[in-house]
Amino acid sequence: MKTTVSNWSNYPVKDAMLTYWRGENIPTASKNWIARGLGRCYGDASLSDQIFSTVKHNHILAFAPESGMVCCQSGVSLHDLLEVFVPKGWFLPVTPGTKFITVGGALASDIHGKNHHVAGCFGDHVTSCTLILANGERMSCSPTENSEVFNATRGGMGLTGMIDTVTFKLKKIESCYIKQRQIKAKNLDEVLTLFDTYKSYTYSMAWIDCLKGGKNFGRSIMMMGEHATLEELNSNQRKKPLTGKVGRDINMPINLPGFVLNALSVKAFNWLYFHKNVKKVIENTVHYDPFFYPLDSILHWNRMYGKGGFVQYQFVLPINNSEEGLVKIMNRIRQKGWGSFLSVLKLFGKQESLISFPMEGYTLALDFPLKKGLFAFLDELDELVLELGGRIYLTKDARMKAATFENSYPHSQEFLSILKKINPDLIIQSDLAKRLSILPS
Ligand SMILES: Cc1cc2nc3c(=O)[nH]c(=O)nc-3n(C[C@H](O)[C@H](O)[C@H](O)COP(=O)(O)OP(=O)(O)OC[C@H]3O[C@@H](n4cnc5c(N)ncnc54)[C@H](O)[C@@H]3O)c2cc1C
Repeated sequence: MKTTVSNWSNYPVKDAMLTYWRGENIPTASKNWIARGLGRCYGDASLSDQIFSTVKHNHILAFAPESGMVCCQSGVSLHDLLEVFVPKGWFLPVTPGTKFITVGGALASDIHGKNHHVAGCFGDHVTSCTLILANGERMSCSPTENSEVFNATRGGMGLTGMIDTVTFKLKKIESCYIKQRQIKAKNLDEVLTLFDTYKSYTYSMAWIDCLKGGKNFGRSIMMMGEHATLEELNSNQRKKPLTGKVGRDINMPINLPGFVLNALSVKAFNWLYFHKNVKKVIENTVHYDPFFYPLDSILHWNRMYGKGGFVQYQFVLPINNSEEGLVKIMNRIRQKGWGSFLSVLKLFGKQESLISFPMEGYTLALDFPLKKGLFAFLDELDELVLELGGRIYLTKDARMKAATFENSYPHSQEFLSILKKINPDLIIQSDLAKRLSILPS
């Protein structure tokens, strides 16, 4: 089917041939194809001339209740896994800020969650996967079998082949609730101290206001959490510890006109968000849904940015340069008046993968409405990120230059040499891979 496709940020938009893939062989004559899950990457990672959508390849194949090992087809969504397994007392080992992604997308982007500092990426919990290579061959790979291909597949943005099935380990829980603690930090210094003080918490992140200057530069709301045990629930929650429900979702019905979002409205939103709770510290026990997926309750929140779309800019800086780098980059954003709604700050632990995004340090994700001058401004930020030894997340990217990729992903040549072996005729290609010259043209 010829159709127009875009991912979460509505930029870029592509005319492509879209086929729903249900596990059959992919014709080896297919050229320029890429796998696509639920399209929650922000840019062009799952766009190409031919797109194979996995959303109908969505069966759970096996589950071992004694160990929590699950094997499923790559188009199963995290939402579906949560619906099935939370009532049985199991949770995802790693989850991003939305549950509307597929397992294939989770492995291909090697996603991270609020627990990266203690649990690593999604790929760290995958024991094996099956893959359809460019020549049509099916290959089973794992950290020990065809490990070179496995290492290039986790975080490889779909360029090693079509992920067919994935086997990974779920995490045991006693309840569907999270014991959370929120602390207001008056500035960047304070929030970084909080991350350090509370690094034994399994989950942590902060909403940070990148527009405020002066003594409140980098004011934040730090959120931490642990899965609540049965004893920690109140009597109401204890009645249905694993099946408690959350409220209904609301919908953003239309694309908002571009003028609604400007530096003033963003500042006002950030002010309201920061002051919505009067107390400095809040402790309560909440359902996992609002804790992990606060934005999922506003379906289609991406429409807030209008038809023109937006760009998410997520970078990570090495731990030793993080504080200095965050100050530099946030100051540049403030001075140039590029408003971003409350941005997300997280701490990463060590990560030694071939091509995955995380490294030990702080990562900041910012949303910018797509306006004239934005790309030139982001090129300036890229230079700062590179100078500081950091890098930009491929799954969020829509505009980075090839040299920035090459200079910031230290194993890009090794990744390329693996791709050359298994995808020599460049049959598997995405617009992201072309833009970043990941594969030679
Ligand atoms: C609101 C929101 C919050 C987010 N929060 C986070 C976060 O906290 N942490 C984080 O790491 N990410 C986060 N993301 C990004 C998201 O988790 C990733 O982009 C994820 O890969 C999207 O999965 P998908 O199924 O939608 O795949 P798509 O977006 O369709 O594709 C993403 C990549 O995976 C590849 N792919 C998909 N399926 C397959 C398959 N079967 N075989 C081979 N390759 C495949 C595609 O080719 C593409 O390169 C967030 C996104 C949104 C919209």
